[in-house]
Amino acid sequence: MKLKIKVDPDLCIGAASCVTIDPATFQLNDENIAVVLDHGSEPGGRVYEREMEVSEDEYETILLAAQSCPTLAIFIYDEAGDQVFPEA
Ligand code: SF4
Repeated sequence: MKLKIKVDPDLCIGAASCVTIDPATFQLNDENIAVVLDHGSEPGGRVYEREMEVSEDEYETILLAAQSCPTLAIFIYDEAGDQVFPEA
């Protein structure tokens, strides 16, 4: 499935629980803000949002990472652009 994953840098407090749960998708930048990786790499640079193709298992891990964020700074959208997390 195709997802868009976004970190709101104004909400991220660098708690890093997303990085612990899913280091293939989230990594802290020099300012301790989470950036979004594409399966462990960063094509196009260290960006706060990214569209990517993920498996069902990868989606579950990304969702767990987003749910672990204490400030709900991680947003997940489906292929149609609808927000799937946090639930609106
Ligand atoms: S869990 Fe949330 S606050 Fe912590 S680094 Fe990830 S996005 Fe930022």
